[in-house]
Amino acid sequence: MDTKIVKAYGTASEEADLNQLNINRRSVTAKDVEIDILFCGVCHSDLHFARNDWGMTQYPVVPGHEIVGTVTKIGSGVSKYKVGDLVAVGCLVDSCRTCSNCKDDLEQYCPQWVGTYGGYDKHLDTPTHGGYSETIVVDEDFVLSVPGNLYKAGIAPVLCAGITTWSPLKHWNVGKDSKVAVVGLGGLGHMAIKLAAALGAHVTLFSRSTNKVQDGLALGADQVIISTDEGQMASVMGNFDVIIDTVPYAHDLNPYIGTLNTNGTLVVVGYLGPLDPMLVTVPMIMGRKSVAGSLIGGIAETQELLDFCGKHNITSDVEVIKIQDINKAYERMLKSDVHYRFVIDMKSLKD
Ligand code: NAP
Ligand code: ZN
Ligand code: ZN
Repeated sequence: MDTKIVKAYGTASEEADLNQLNINRRSVTAKDVEIDILFCGVCHSDLHFARNDWGMTQYPVVPGHEIVGTVTKIGSGVSKYKVGDLVAVGCLVDSCRTCSNCKDDLEQYCPQWVGTYGGYDKHLDTPTHGGYSETIVVDEDFVLSVPGNLYKAGIAPVLCAGITTWSPLKHWNVGKDSKVAVVGLGGLGHMAIKLAAALGAHVTLFSRSTNKVQDGLALGADQVIISTDEGQMASVMGNFDVIIDTVPYAHDLNPYIGTLNTNGTLVVVGYLGPLDPMLVTVPMIMGRKSVAGSLIGGIAETQELLDFCGKHNITSDVEVIKIQDINKAYERMLKSDVHYRFVIDMKSLKD
C-alpha cells in the first residue's frame, strides 16, 4: 500500500527522551479520513506507555490520543466528513465491529480494539502511531465531529481525560443531586469535576495536599477534602454515591471505601495493576459497596460528550506547549505539576 512519510515525536526505548522521528502514514483507503493535526493532549498514559510502565510497549512508540485537527483528504466511500471539517480522534481507531460489545457501542471493550498508538494497523502490518505527529489517517467510523464554538486546544483532552470520566459518571447514573467524589486533581480529575458539576452533582475533590484547594473549588467542586488529614476524611464517612479514582499509581483504596454510602461504587480509572495494600472486604460487605473499573468510552458516547461540551461550553484547562518541550512536560506531570492538561500545539512540529 502507498504510504506517506510524516514527522512525529516518539521514543525508541524506555530510557530515552522523546525525539523527532519519521513515521509512515497510509494513503487514504475508501473509508479513511486524513487529518492535519492541530492540537494533541498529553495524557499520563502517554508517559506510562513511553516508559513501558505496563510492560507492553513496542518501540518506537509515538504517543498521543487526544487529537484535534482538520480533514485534508477523504476516501471515495466517506460520507460523514468533508475536507475542511474540524474533527477529533481519541484512544480508538478500529475494532472488530461484529462482537457484542461493538454492537452495543462499547468498542473500548472489544477484544480486538485498536489503540490509536501501540495497537495493530492491519493496513500497514505495523503498530499504530499516535497524535504527536503531523497527520493521521483514520477510518471515518472512529473520527468524531467537534462543535465549532469551543476553544480548539481545550477540546483535545475531552477525547481521553473527558470521556474516561464521563463514561463512568453516565454508567453509574450521576445526575442532579448525586454525591460524587473525585480522587486526584490532574487531567482526568479536573475533567471529572467539571463534568459531574455540569450534570448537577454535588462534587467533592480528594487531593493529597492543600495546594490545589482553590483550583478544585474554581473548577466546580463544592468542597475539597485533604486525603492525608484523618479528621477531614472522617467528616465524609458514608457520604458518596460514586467515587472516580484517577490516581496513576498503586495506593490505598480502603480509606475511600469508608466514604461511600450504602450501594456506593468506587470506580478505578487511574491505576492499572495489583492493589497494595489489599482491599479489606468488611466495609464492602457491611454496606453493599462496590469497587469497579472503567476504560475510556465508546465512539457514540464520545460524540455525545463532545456535543454536551459544545452545549455547556466545557473545555479542559490547558497549558499549551511546543512539541520540543514534551520531555519537560513529562517530568512536570510526574510531580503532579499540571494545570490541568498539557496540550501540544502541533504547529511546532511543522516549523
Ligand atoms: P495526571 O494529570 O498526572 O493526574 C494524576 C493526579 O493523581 C495528580 O495530579 C495527583 O493529584 C494524583 N496523584 C499522582 N500521584 C499520586 C500518588 N502517588 N498518590 C496519590 N495521588 C497521586 O494523570 P492523568 O492524565 O489524569 O491520568 C491519571 C491516570 O489515569 C493515569 O494512570 C492514566 O494512565 C490513567 N488513564 C486511564 C484511562 C482509562 O480508560 N481507565 C484513560 C486515561 C488515563 P493530587 O495532587 O490532587 O493528589
Ligand atoms: Zn489518555
Ligand atoms: Zn468487537
